[in-house]
Amino acid sequence: MTPKYIFFTGGVVSSVGKGVTAAAIGRLLKERGFAVAVQKLDPYINVDPGTMSPYQHGEVYVLDDGAETDLDLGHYERFIDVSLSRVCNITTGQVYAEVISNERRGDYLGGTIQVIPHITNEIKRRIGLVAKETAAEVVILEIGGTVGDIESQPFLEALRQLRNEVGRENTFFVHVTWLPFISATQELKTKPTQHSVAALRSIGISPNMIIARSDYPVEDGLCDKIALFCDVDKRAVVPMVTSQVLYEVPLLLEEAGVGDYLVERLGLKAIVKPDWGPWRQLVEEVRKPKPMVKVALVGKYVELKDAYMSVREAVNHAALSLGLQAEIHWVLSSDLEKGKGWEHVKSAGAIIVPGGFGSRGIEGKIQAAKYAREDKVPYLGLCLGMQVMCVEFARDVLGYEDANSTEFDPSTSHPVIDLMLEQRAITDMGGTMRLGLYPCVLQPGTKAAAAYAEKQVDERHRHRWEFNNAYREVFKQAGMVFSGISPDGLLVEIAELKNHPYMVGSQFHPEFLSRPMRPHPLFVGLMKAAKERSKI
Ligand code: GLN
Repeated sequence: MTPKYIFFTGGVVSSVGKGVTAAAIGRLLKERGFAVAVQKLDPYINVDPGTMSPYQHGEVYVLDDGAETDLDLGHYERFIDVSLSRVCNITTGQVYAEVISNERRGDYLGGTIQVIPHITNEIKRRIGLVAKETAAEVVILEIGGTVGDIESQPFLEALRQLRNEVGRENTFFVHVTWLPFISATQELKTKPTQHSVAALRSIGISPNMIIARSDYPVEDGLCDKIALFCDVDKRAVVPMVTSQVLYEVPLLLEEAGVGDYLVERLGLKAIVKPDWGPWRQLVEEVRKPKPMVKVALVGKYVELKDAYMSVREAVNHAALSLGLQAEIHWVLSSDLEKGKGWEHVKSAGAIIVPGGFGSRGIEGKIQAAKYAREDKVPYLGLCLGMQVMCVEFARDVLGYEDANSTEFDPSTSHPVIDLMLEQRAITDMGGTMRLGLYPCVLQPGTKAAAAYAEKQVDERHRHRWEFNNAYREVFKQAGMVFSGISPDGLLVEIAELKNHPYMVGSQFHPEFLSRPMRPHPLFVGLMKAAKERSKI
């Protein structure tokens, strides 16, 4: 059966929540019983975002199969609660790399390779893989950037062609735009929306629905105007005022009738009636006043909150499940080195050191771990956060003054975190880390085992360095517990301190598996310890 395709394009400006909107619409369809998959098409030329700085791109989100993807895939997985795979994120870089390697192999038999049809065909082939691999009935496709970007043109052209190939009745175009507010006249303006729809039409695509994002309430008259000027059904002009509660977006779209409209226009029949009970409860819970717990997040990219998107969400999910409100204080680790920002660390009920690469700010993170250990503040270390916790322990508890990870000091006399043998010969930076799901056996009687209440778990990884097994014994004797180990016993997956309420570090990234209704056990463990410590 041909799947139904819903395409999301952006107009006017980016960063207005196109990814969240696409994810929320995926939820509307899942609630109606359809198998949904989502694919993000990123027009940049990098093969994947794995090599990009979080300042450029925000967080790199990792999937089960180890694909390093755009952070929007995090929204999709959290909202729709599906596990996506490598085919769900394509970039211009991947498309060109494939076409060029085909050309070198001689596949095109002397033909001239062009954007149309070769690049557009490869884009369409990759779009087709989603339905094939996932057996989805509805495939949601989000094009990164905004209409008018040079890089996105081949993608839009591919969608235009696809609409004819799979049949218009099987496709639906949603255009997400922004209504600017003019303070001098106190009004919202639709002109940029009209222009972006005109730009879309000039490449042969007419939107079927316009989602008009705004920071202010949108009057009905404005929707009429958008419907008229943009040639869209009045029912299909959906005003979306910015919501303080992220997980309210599906409910708002449902109330606006988007789910029913889509089902009707795509000729689908809902399999079940949506049950929004749990979502409503979740949103009500978010809105309720709750006791506040301060969480200090000691990182390197704190100026850009998107760099730690999944960590922030995982903290919120865990807090909510315990009836708490988390207030995250973003602390720049290099500030701590200069004696700044400590007030946030010292007033926090919990400390998190998230993942990271490179040496800037490392000593500040080590100092934060030392503070957490000595003052018995609940601490969760995520990947690099686990590594700095071990370095700190080696320096201060074991007295190995220059202990370090060889990532930061290759000549340290105590390389407690070191490269695995397989990683030593690797020179390529892209896609060469330990990536994706790996099993972790929990050691009975530990805090990690209690938090999970399971014997073995699979968690998502993204790192090159590991705990150096030569130090396992001395660490153990001094009070470090290796509470999660790979099934072959060779890799430390979780480390925790014995005489501490909750000082736990994981070599993997638990934040990628936290869901609004299924908070991650290690984050719940952290927030529980913080709750007990603050006697809430
Ligand atoms: N830089 C460290 C490593 O490669 C940690 C990576 C991370 O935190 N994701 O092992």
